Amino acid sequence: MKACVDIGGTRVAVGLVHEHVPGGLVARRSEATATSGSPDAVVLQVMRMVEQASAEAGVDANEVNELGVAAPGPFLLREGLVELTTPHICGGLAGLSRGLPNGWLSAPSKAPLRRRFGRVRVENVGVAALEAERRWGALQGFAHCAHVSRGAGIGVGLCVDGRVLRGKNRNAAHAGHSFVTDSNADAALCGCGNVGDGESLVAGDAIERRFGHSASTLFMAAARGDAQALRKADGLCTVVGRLLFNLVTTLDLQAIGLGGSVFWHHRQFLLPRLRAAVEACLPSMTAGVLVVPAGLGDQVTGCAALALLAGTVPDPRPPQAMPSPRAELVA
Ligand SMILES: [Zn+2]
Repeated sequence: MKACVDIGGTRVAVGLVHEHVPGGLVARRSEATATSGSPDAVVLQVMRMVEQASAEAGVDANEVNELGVAAPGPFLLREGLVELTTPHICGGLAGLSRGLPNGWLSAPSKAPLRRRFGRVRVENVGVAALEAERRWGALQGFAHCAHVSRGAGIGVGLCVDGRVLRGKNRNAAHAGHSFVTDSNADAALCGCGNVGDGESLVAGDAIERRFGHSASTLFMAAARGDAQALRKADGLCTVVGRLLFNLVTTLDLQAIGLGGSVFWHHRQFLLPRLRAAVEACLPSMTAGVLVVPAGLGDQVTGCAALALLAGTVPDPRPPQAMPSPRAELVA
C-alpha cells in the first residue's frame, strides 16, 4: 500500500493508493495544517492521518511502505534529508507579526517519515505537479518542459534533457521569485521578502493586494472589454509572459503547461496573450514552443503527490474529464 501526501500552507491531504483500484485512491482525508506545538507537529499529523485513512479503508497502517509527499518550498537539507522552511508553516522565519502560533525555523519531514514508512519521496509541489503532467497530462513525451501554476502563489517545475531539475537544496524552479520587471515602478512586497518579483505582482493574492479586488473580478471585467481592467490584465500578462519567455530562453524548452486556479478559470482570456508574449521575441528560440493548459486541468495539484510514487500508479483521471490541450491549441 502506498500513500500520497499533499502538505499545503492551509490544508494537509492524505490519500491511500492501491495500484489495482481504478483511480488509485481507496481512502482520503484532509484537515487544516498543524501550526502549533513542536516543529514535528506536521509530520506527526501526517502519520496520524495515514493511520486514520488505513483504518477507514480496513487495512493495517503497517502495510503502507511508500509515501509521495508534495510540499511547498523552500526546503533545507539536514544531513541530506528535506525539511520544510515554508513561510506559511514555519512562524519563526518572519516572526510573530506574520501571525503563525509557532516559532519554528524549520519543520522536519523526510527523516521521521522515512523511519516510519520506509520509502519516502518529498518534492516541491511545483516539481510534483510537473511530474504529474509528464506522467498523465499535457507534458507527456517532452524532455524539455516546464509546468507553471498560478494560484495564490506561483509554482514552477522544470525538466531539461529528460531530467527534472532540483538544485543544491532541492529548491530549483522558484522562478516566481525572480524579477521580471522594474521593481521601483511597481513596489509590491512578496511573502519571500522580495519587492517587485514575479509572484508579488501577478499571483492571485498579489492581485487582491495590488488592485483591491480578486483575480476573477479583474479578468472577467477584462474579458468583457472594460478598458481599465483590460489595461491591468494586459500588464499582468506582460509580467507572466516575460517569466515564461525567460524560462524558454534559459532552458531551451519545447513546452510549457499552465495550471493553477487563476490560470485555469481564465484560460480563454490568458492563453492567447501568454502565447503571444512568449513568441514576441527571439523566434529562433521561441517559435513552435507549445504553451498549453495543463492536461490534468484543475486536478493537477490533487494528482501531484500521487505522481511521486514509484511503479504502477493508476491514471487518476476519470475518463470523461480529460481536457485535450493539443485540440485547444489547434482550435
Ligand atoms: Zn517572492
